[in-house]
Amino acid sequence: MTTSVPLDHPTVTEAAQPLLSLQDLVKHYPAGKGKKVHSVDGVSLSVRQGEVLGLVGESGCGKSTLARTILRAVDATSGHIVFDGEDITSAKGKRLKELRRSMQFVFQDPYGAFDPKMSLGTSLEAPLRHHGMKDRAQRQQRMLEMLDRVGIEEAILERRPAECSGGQLQRMVIARALLLEPKFLICDEPTSALDASIRAQILNLLVELKDQLDLTLVLISHDLRVVRYLCDRVAVMYLGKIVEVAPRDELFTNPRHPYTRVLLAASLAEQAGAEANAMVSRLRGEPPSPIDVPSGCRFHPRCPIAQDICSTVVPEISRPGQDHTVTCHFWDQVPHPSALLATSTRNPDE
Ligand code: SF4
Repeated sequence: MTTSVPLDHPTVTEAAQPLLSLQDLVKHYPAGKGKKVHSVDGVSLSVRQGEVLGLVGESGCGKSTLARTILRAVDATSGHIVFDGEDITSAKGKRLKELRRSMQFVFQDPYGAFDPKMSLGTSLEAPLRHHGMKDRAQRQQRMLEMLDRVGIEEAILERRPAECSGGQLQRMVIARALLLEPKFLICDEPTSALDASIRAQILNLLVELKDQLDLTLVLISHDLRVVRYLCDRVAVMYLGKIVEVAPRDELFTNPRHPYTRVLLAASLAEQAGAEANAMVSRLRGEPPSPIDVPSGCRFHPRCPIAQDICSTVVPEISRPGQDHTVTCHFWDQVPHPSALLATSTRNPDE
């Protein structure tokens, strides 16, 4: 990614109140023969008012399912979602519709985000109609305000998606997400489908809008450079569980979980996102299936420093720093990322 922006995005203090709190949240799907997919498996996590929380991990680790569960696109299997002081885990009907104004989603793929047969104006207007803004002039004014905020000319409203660039469409996706004045936004890989030249522009736009509109954001990404630029804190997810949470600078300079260190080691090797993912997946084999999750620490079949206890005993949450948590029996003995990478890329059968 090419970006000229400095890495000094303001941080949010630990004292900030949580806007969102997840308590032992679980989302399982049936997998036949009495088995289940452990997509999200006991996640407890807070997102503080005004912060950008990064959520990182390999494809298939449960990040997107966690997002969909938080936004109530799917029902949780168990646990609680508390948003703005209210338990919304079982909210339904009118209340759920109201909540959806406050919690919005920015899609990964701007090319598939709009109906190809409709003008972008019609698509953009739909959520305003759906949420009861009956006055046409009012709807038009709100749309123009949002286009102005995301830096798009009014003429785009007459066009269809195929007539627009990826960058324009992603700005429209963001405009649509903000139309209903949400407090909270989940952005799922918001720049991964875009050219490198456009990514920095979209990231800068998100930072500006967050500050202007007092938003709280969760950013899902496998690209640690994007996370390092945009986020205040980072949560690392592995096979349905959060394994480490820390302030951005702490996580990047002093990661404690072997998996986090592996991810950083791959990033240190300056691989592109997909290549880094491939490197991680070479580490002592592919990720285990979320249907047959390993006993003890889920990372143990791939962990370069696993010991006997790791395959039988689930590690508890440790606190290496005031605002830093990690689930690993040996968090204080993990080697530096570069050493770990050298260890981990050897043949696992050696
Ligand atoms: Fe590795 Fe054991 Fe720590 Fe799990 S608990 S990350 S297997 S050292």
